[in-house]
Amino acid sequence: MKTSAKVVVIGGGVVGCSVLYHLTKMGWTDIMLIERSELTSGSTWHAAGGFHTLNADTNMAALQGYTIRLYRELEEITGMSCGLHHVGGVTLAGTQDRLDYLVAERAKHRYMGLDTQIVGPEEIRKLSPITNVEGVLGGLYDPLDGHLDPSGTTHAYAKAARMAGAEIELRCPVLETNPRPDGTWDVVTERGTVHAEHVVNAAGLWAREVGAMAGIYLPLHPMEHQYLITEDIPEVYERDEELPHVMDPEGESYLRQERQGLCIGFYEQRCDPWAVDGTPWSFGHELLENRLERISDSVEFAYRRFPILERAGVKTVINGPFTFAPDGNPLVGPVPGLRNYWSAVGVMAGFSQGGGVGLSLAEWMIEGEPRRDIFAMDVARFGDWITPTYTREKVRENYQRRFSVSYPNEELPVMRPFQTTPAYQIWKDQRAVFGSAYGMEAVNYFALPGEPLEETPSFRRSNAWEATAQECRAVREAVGINEIHNFGKYRITGPDSRRWLDWIMAGRMPTIGRLSLTPMLSPTGKLIGDFTVTALAEDDFQLTASFGSQAYHLRWFEQHLDGYDVSIDNISTRRIGFQIAGPKARDVLAAVTRADVSASAFRFMDAKTLDVGAYQALVQRVSYTGDLGYEIYVNADEQYGLYQVLAEAGAEHGMRPFGMRAMMSLRLEKFFGSWMREFRPDYRPAETGMDRFVSYNKPADFIGKAAAAAEKSSGPSRMICAFAVDAVDADVVADEPIFDGDTVVGFVTSGGYAHYSEQSVALGFVPTEMAIEGRQFTIEILGDRRPARIITTPLVDPDGARMRG
Ligand SMILES: Cc1cc2nc3c(=O)[nH]c(=O)nc-3n(C[C@H](O)[C@H](O)[C@H](O)COP(=O)(O)OP(=O)(O)OC[C@H]3O[C@@H](n4cnc5c(N)ncnc54)[C@H](O)[C@@H]3O)c2cc1C
Repeated sequence: MKTSAKVVVIGGGVVGCSVLYHLTKMGWTDIMLIERSELTSGSTWHAAGGFHTLNADTNMAALQGYTIRLYRELEEITGMSCGLHHVGGVTLAGTQDRLDYLVAERAKHRYMGLDTQIVGPEEIRKLSPITNVEGVLGGLYDPLDGHLDPSGTTHAYAKAARMAGAEIELRCPVLETNPRPDGTWDVVTERGTVHAEHVVNAAGLWAREVGAMAGIYLPLHPMEHQYLITEDIPEVYERDEELPHVMDPEGESYLRQERQGLCIGFYEQRCDPWAVDGTPWSFGHELLENRLERISDSVEFAYRRFPILERAGVKTVINGPFTFAPDGNPLVGPVPGLRNYWSAVGVMAGFSQGGGVGLSLAEWMIEGEPRRDIFAMDVARFGDWITPTYTREKVRENYQRRFSVSYPNEELPVMRPFQTTPAYQIWKDQRAVFGSAYGMEAVNYFALPGEPLEETPSFRRSNAWEATAQECRAVREAVGINEIHNFGKYRITGPDSRRWLDWIMAGRMPTIGRLSLTPMLSPTGKLIGDFTVTALAEDDFQLTASFGSQAYHLRWFEQHLDGYDVSIDNISTRRIGFQIAGPKARDVLAAVTRADVSASAFRFMDAKTLDVGAYQALVQRVSYTGDLGYEIYVNADEQYGLYQVLAEAGAEHGMRPFGMRAMMSLRLEKFFGSWMREFRPDYRPAETGMDRFVSYNKPADFIGKAAAAAEKSSGPSRMICAFAVDAVDADVVADEPIFDGDTVVGFVTSGGYAHYSEQSVALGFVPTEMAIEGRQFTIEILGDRRPARIITTPLVDPDGARMRG
């Protein structure tokens, strides 16, 4: 066995073998995979081998498409068979909401190059005559769906990697992974130690245990999952061609042909997490005990949907475990807090996603970043707040919801509330309807009297409509208050603070007492952050950015500290407070401080430490609603008291609390972009309008400078524009296609209803030559192409007089 390698991949399931293959494909060959038993000794052994492209995240869907197309390539390289059956598949819709969902998914596929189509009940019956289409409104047909041989495919990945120089050690359990001071690793196995530059944890069912060897907790949990294989059925084997897959979400089942019979699996409600206290090392190819009682309801439903099943005997019952992250997407990338330790775990659909996971990880390791934004499966999308119980309960919820419709305005109930601020009860007493992000509760809106205390999940305008409209009016016409706890906040201190910020951020750094807005770029010039920087002193800065990107941003900061004398403190949940926004905001602030807050003394983008009531607060004059506004930060234990001070002063000015729904509506009227919508690691400054915050001429050779300058000088080929949409009862959400005539020319990044100006608005990309004021397009909303016109003047306060005045 080798004693050193550039990369050691731990785990020979489909994911580890895919990572190994992709590393060789991109040119790294001094690599090895270590497997404790034989290849496919974990979940991979139990898999039903189905694959599909459907995924609510467009980049994930694209990577699933990549995975499926890769199998032919593997067969050609290795001469081995993956046992491919490209039979196509149809997902049924038994409710209007489900059909809306599928139609919206189909719309996204138009610009992703996926050739799906919406089919009616008759077509479904023709495609799959064994399906009883009673009650079925339609379905989404995907010709790429199919199934394969899990073992053959895993061995094909392994052979392709071996052919390119990779080594595979079988029957060699990894016992320890020990970091060296230089960032390399000693991987201790039963057969000796391998010194590796990089370690990849691809240990599937044992990912938690292998993670613990490096002192980390990876938020995933195994679940039991059952499928049945029937005896041979004449109506199946007498057909000339193989039956397509049928996913029946209402019955929580997926069905496909298995040789001369059928295979049907269930995502049942009565589900069980497996191996709560750890996966036994002795587990291997054995099956778990059948739990047919858990799926009895689903089986009954399946008999109605596929009556043929009633006549077919069950040949085999498979009950096997596989792992999920709390949101069902994989956990991929460099693990925060460790050097050269990579995660490729939590892959619940290895045969749809394994190729994309391997490709993205190999790009990240070799090129420094994945070529497309894969935040949806980044291991850093969860922070260190996550605990095993939170993970397990969320995984159970996700498993049960595997076939549920995902609504754009939906908030999932399990493990809520998890984290709250002292203001939580204050809002609750005022009929707040909460959402949750990154474990933290934040108000979405305040329910009007008589309205339910929850938002109805919908693709159309919801019951939050009128409440949100009133909150928007309160902000624009008087003053609104909401929390600023859901920003990621960092304190940067030390003698090199300014020099470091000048290098890591693309924008101009502020003078003391001022704020600046700045993007953070990757070396290839992609947007990896959207920050507000406050200069408190020459060696003391506060950064604010997306709350949900804390681990993602901290990982980047930590990877880029060498040679700088700076300290970074994540103060996101320790420094919180409120923003007040609206024409009366200054009057409210003036009433609670003795400081001069007049327009000339406290200018737009100023930051001051003031006494607010009895509290010493950092007050920043900035506002994401586009109004006159202030952010007021105090320590978390002072937040409740600060609220009393502001509420008392605000009462006479008609101050009203507002939530995130109103905030997002208000920012739309100003065409302000939003992180992970208009600004994300797929996009660059000039095409998103972020270039106005890039300091192309500052002396510092900031990260991404050359790439950003090149983008600017060549000019972007597409631009984000704002559109006034002629919508009816549903607004855009994100990812809808934008048509010029019958041609898809772009896609929506975000949008919604701008309540104050009473206009449905979309933001989205179109080719630069089409980005012309007044140009007409159509945008597909729930299958209906709605007229949309480019607008270039913000709908409220176009010259910024309110915000700056
Ligand atoms: C019943 C069932 C049906 C399924 N159906 C489908 C389906 O139709 N389609 C689909 O896409 N997915 C399906 N899956 C899920 C699929 O099996 C997984 O997504 C996939 O197998 C995950 O692969 P992996 O490589 O991440 O993990 P695993 O297959 O668990 O592989 C991990 C490997 O790491 C090795 N390992 C662990 N610890 C160590 C150590 N310390 N040292 C060395 N080696 C170690 C293990 O021995 C194992 O071989 C199904 C799963 C089950 C259980």
